[in-house]
Amino acid sequence: MAQCLFCQIISREINATIVYEDERVVAFNDINPQGPTHVLIVPRRHIATLNDLSEDDDQMVGELVRRAALLAKSKGFSASGYRTVFNTNRDAGQTVFHIHLHLIGGRSMHWPPG
Ligand code: 5GP
Ligand code: ZN
Repeated sequence: MAQCLFCQIISREINATIVYEDERVVAFNDINPQGPTHVLIVPRRHIATLNDLSEDDDQMVGELVRRAALLAKSKGFSASGYRTVFNTNRDAGQTVFHIHLHLIGGRSMHWPPG
């Protein structure tokens, strides 16, 4: 989707600090980090929200989640802990409509979120 911000980051039309990429998944630093590490892990294929996933996407979603765990390990906070979040639509505060898994780590966090 040409006008989608994250599609433009994936295609390098917009700059971001990319920390991982493969055939299906790209991960880059959030521009407004909510912790010492804040990475967004996205599929290359444009999917607006979790509501738009199909059974065919199950493997890709697993790859997003496992990539978060691997990045947490490489950042050194897999044992101390980290937060992984998908925001969906208005009540969760989704602002970019290309699914993305937030990986936040490097500090302690509270629950429930605001
Ligand atoms: P959402 O609120 O949709 O779950 O998360 C969108 C995230 O995208 C936010 O954490 C926001 O800081 C991040 N973001 C918005 N614009 C940009 C951008 O241009 N570059 C990067 N790297 N992150 C962005
Ligand atoms: Zn997109």
